[in-house]
Amino acid sequence: MRFRATATIWFIVLAPFLTLLLVAAGCIWGLWILFVSHLLLVVVTLVPSLQGFGPVLTRYGTNAKTAWLTIDDGPDPGTTPRIIALLEKYGARATFFLIGERVAKYPELARMILAAGHAIGNHTQTHPQFSFWRLGPKALAREIDGFEGTITSLGIATPLWFRAPAGMKNPFLHPILAARGLQLVGWSAGGYDTRIDDSGKIVCRIKRCIASGTIILFHERKQSEICLQALEQLLRELTAERFRLIVPPPKELMTGNQTVGKHLERGSA
Ligand SMILES: [Zn+2]
Repeated sequence: MRFRATATIWFIVLAPFLTLLLVAAGCIWGLWILFVSHLLLVVVTLVPSLQGFGPVLTRYGTNAKTAWLTIDDGPDPGTTPRIIALLEKYGARATFFLIGERVAKYPELARMILAAGHAIGNHTQTHPQFSFWRLGPKALAREIDGFEGTITSLGIATPLWFRAPAGMKNPFLHPILAARGLQLVGWSAGGYDTRIDDSGKIVCRIKRCIASGTIILFHERKQSEICLQALEQLLRELTAERFRLIVPPPKELMTGNQTVGKHLERGSA
């Protein structure tokens, strides 16, 4: 898979030179170009769905009443088996974005996820949520490759999907993902389930954004009862509305206007 620098990246890279030229020519307003480029860098880094550094999957193409449930930050012996049981009860499937060092600690839980028909995604080796945005290329690659090393040591195939801690981006991320055939997955329905302590409110926020092809963000969090209550309520209500939670086939997944299938074909060419 080949990485192509976006117009946003070119602008951020060229802005200092352009500013220098303009200021040297006596156009002091040229400083605005530098200011706008820095603002753009911060906003694209912090807003998970923005595609300024490269494609981010936030939905997939379908007319069916289906959505992709993604569950971050596991595995955890306190939540993972109970989540799997709940998904089984409602006939739902999900992708678990796991943390490599937790997989190394609880390998049986990663195997349990796959045996139950769910999928696994790369959520870094150590989940550096406060420093991910400022990691250099080597440290970023270490986080991504560390996860892949952990998974392959268990005999599990490396996943196609990557989710950044807290959805943060980093200007070095897309070339590293592209070189490994990974796609960055964001979301289009989140319930702030790591911050809200009311399961009803979490479900309400998620359901407000649900439509065909939505990607739902959920977490395995320490206050497991809230997480499990919210998940069961969501599953119960969606099932009553005949809305199914699935792991979509790669060709149905979209990044902006492009399907992942096209990316994969281009990458293999
Ligand atoms: Zn996370």
